[in-house]
Amino acid sequence: MLKAVLLDLDGTVYRGKSAIPGADETLQKLRDKGIRLFFVTNAATRSRVGVVEKLAGMGIHAKEEEMYCTTYATARYITSNFKDKTVFCIGEKGMKDEFKKHEISVVEDDSAGIVVVGLDRTIDYDKLSVGYKTIMKGAEFIATNGDVVYPVEDGFLPGAGVMVAAVESCTSKKPFIIGKPEIYFAELIHAENKLDKEEMLIVGDRTDTDIRFGRNTGIKSVLVLTGVTKKEDIEKSNDKPDYVIESVNELPELVEKLSLS
Ligand SMILES: [Mg+2]
Repeated sequence: MLKAVLLDLDGTVYRGKSAIPGADETLQKLRDKGIRLFFVTNAATRSRVGVVEKLAGMGIHAKEEEMYCTTYATARYITSNFKDKTVFCIGEKGMKDEFKKHEISVVEDDSAGIVVVGLDRTIDYDKLSVGYKTIMKGAEFIATNGDVVYPVEDGFLPGAGVMVAAVESCTSKKPFIIGKPEIYFAELIHAENKLDKEEMLIVGDRTDTDIRFGRNTGIKSVLVLTGVTKKEDIEKSNDKPDYVIESVNELPELVEKLSLS
């Protein structure tokens, strides 16, 4: 039985700087039906609270416990697997804020036990050098996500994957990747909310992240056509969604149908 919907954010719930019209009401409709919502986003520049505030600014209501962004998921991965290790971040303030909230100590030199790489719009040679030295001394290498580009108002910009690739190429080491299409979000949501893959749906706008995440985890996937992937792209993609809808606003109807079948 369907109990929860995992929702991508950019291109799904909002686009650029504004909400998809009707999205907030639609999300509340789903909650009213008893469906739990989890926002699952690869975005790595804000803390959990930071993403909730960003959504509120667009008129979208979300609770902190519904928010699964890569900064939160990375912090949880570190506290469950590498308790007491210190971290060096190639990442922004939102990442460090989230880590501090989980009592992870962030250091600024090559003494760290873990290097976390995410989108960092002020990356420079010094940060790369410290990251490189730390990993070569044996530190764990974690990437928030592997997206090489991410959508902005007028196209795309270089994403976290570019910084990850830089560290990967000088160290010849592969990172553990937290974000979609890798499966860690599903494991974390399962562990924290006691939900199985048959009880969830993943909804997103990209076949290469959201829909592939569904394929990798065995969670049924829904593609919305309000973001990156267009109807004509589905044919060409190896990652076929289970369902295609125009926008998030068609979700209550689909959820109803799936609950009856
Ligand atoms: Mg998206």
